[in-house]
Amino acid sequence: MTRLSNDYIQEIVKECRPFASSGVVADHLPGKDQSDLTNLAITIISDKGEVYSAGDDGYVFSLQSISKVINLLMALEDFGEDTVFQKVDKEPTDDFFNSISNLENYENHKPYNPMLNSGAIAVASLIKGLNVDERFGRVLTFLRTITNNDKIVLDEDVYRSEVKNGSRNRSLAYFLESLGILPYQELDAALDLYFRVNSLKVTSRDLAEIGCFLAKQGMKDGQRLIDPKHVRTTLAIMITSGMYNESGSYAVDVGFPVKSGVSGGITGVVTGELGIGIVGPAINKKGNSIAGGKALRKLSNDLNLNLFNR
Ligand code: GLN
Repeated sequence: MTRLSNDYIQEIVKECRPFASSGVVADHLPGKDQSDLTNLAITIISDKGEVYSAGDDGYVFSLQSISKVINLLMALEDFGEDTVFQKVDKEPTDDFFNSISNLENYENHKPYNPMLNSGAIAVASLIKGLNVDERFGRVLTFLRTITNNDKIVLDEDVYRSEVKNGSRNRSLAYFLESLGILPYQELDAALDLYFRVNSLKVTSRDLAEIGCFLAKQGMKDGQRLIDPKHVRTTLAIMITSGMYNESGSYAVDVGFPVKSGVSGGITGVVTGELGIGIVGPAINKKGNSIAGGKALRKLSNDLNLNLFNR
């Protein structure tokens, strides 16, 4: 079996980089353009703290939908599973990530899952704090703690762009209000928190730290920050819905929980072993990194990481 090393992941970066050319860099990300297309970084952190990294691991990008994992963990801690799953279901769907159509049709009258924008906006209304600043402050502190990175900050340009291009998300929020899922007075706060956490600046290393924290079932430096039951629930939702309407292929080909964002990031979790952070900004129509997906498949195969092989 292949042994994990910097040289090995450097090989994967080299092999997977060319696949990026069949994708595009999302067009609402300020500071990013097609010249970023072939960037690719892989960082892996073991549960013992060994770090392996290769490629463009200094590349800074916004957290985007990987924030859905962070918000979900906090909402589960703040309000518990019963309250969270009254507002959002746990079911996979073949809807695109920002789909609105089935909000009306789905018989349970709530978003299918917390990894869709609709579900994530509902979840963003379940983070405690007197106002958005306080809620955002709590999320940021949590993210900085689990990544060991006090330098994570909001990218103001990305935030402005999220707000400016946020009509779809606003319409999802209003639809949720009409279903009785989001109280009217919480609408703006939930959206603003969602936009802000999407706009946090990270690197592949931060994504690997998030993965590693989950791989350690919510422990950080010997302290339990999240109930392992909530980590387990989040990982189950990641493996069934983390890559949206491509989650089935990832479950088959990769076989461990993963979550993507539209800026090309992916966080992967191999429980008890390692966290994986990848960024490759060229995405496909489903919003997932193309080169990143190739890399994950290779890593899973070469390092025997598929849970269903065990
Ligand atoms: N900011 C994007 C949105 O709200 C995030 C989507 C994503 O990363 N898939 O649509």
